[in-house]
Amino acid sequence: MRKLILLFSIIIFLVAGYKLYSHFVNKTHEVSLITEQHSLKIVTSFTILCDFAEKITHGAPHIKITSIVPPEADPHVYQPTPLDATALTKADIVFLNGLNFEKGVERMLKSTDTKAIISTVTQNVKTRPDLTDPHTWHNVQNAMLYVKEMTHVLSEADPGNAKLYQKNSDLLLKELEKLDLWVRNEINKIPEKERIVITTHDAFWYFGQAYDVKFMSPIGISTEAEASAQDVAALINFIRDHKIKAVFLENLANPRLIEQIASETENILQGTLYADSLSAPGGPAPDYVSMIKHNVQTICKALSL
Ligand SMILES: [Zn+2]
Repeated sequence: MRKLILLFSIIIFLVAGYKLYSHFVNKTHEVSLITEQHSLKIVTSFTILCDFAEKITHGAPHIKITSIVPPEADPHVYQPTPLDATALTKADIVFLNGLNFEKGVERMLKSTDTKAIISTVTQNVKTRPDLTDPHTWHNVQNAMLYVKEMTHVLSEADPGNAKLYQKNSDLLLKELEKLDLWVRNEINKIPEKERIVITTHDAFWYFGQAYDVKFMSPIGISTEAEASAQDVAALINFIRDHKIKAVFLENLANPRLIEQIASETENILQGTLYADSLSAPGGPAPDYVSMIKHNVQTICKALSL
């Protein structure tokens, strides 16, 4: 009988011990992704998302942000390196633009066994109906949707800093709201029929729709595409017929074709627009707000000639 009581007590002790243990284990899983030893590793596919992530998390401790595609590099054709694969594998959160933009990064991400939360920031954006066009950030109101989505994901992953993220996000959204109004004002100073701009690749459809500017380019949505001789000839005729002066380089795309078009139409290139990547620090477009301002000022200056 005593042996039975002893056995029974041991069983109760073991069950209680296991319950206590599993309670502890579950609790440790419930806490935020951040601990004293572990920083929150945020990986963004390209520089504009990196800028937003930095602004939203500003002032939070234990944050590490990496952009896979560096400044002045082309996300359409970027081939990730083994170092990028390590960053994606170790990431807690990966932010992507989506819409077929950063194909190399997405391919690499699929080949890793990352446990990261993967967030596609364009998921709430109203997209172009006729083509899969990823350049949605050139409408500042779309960029605001990016910021809201990123703030939501960051706050869920790191609830301890959610208040700070919300505060930073509100400030950034106010700045973007002001920027959107400023762009409208600047573009409205140009007579409507004169608002025709030639760029290297079709990266500014969302800008054109939002702010009422017509963009034309010899190359399509991706910088990988080749222009056909017919399209180039038609564009050259259009520029001549309409006496268009606003012909621009882009920071990433190969300049040869647009230089040829400018020379055949006796145009001088009116500067460089930043389409798909920010400039390095110290350049004219090191963050999103300065990129939009630079592009608008460059366009308006050329259209006022
Ligand atoms: Zn592009």
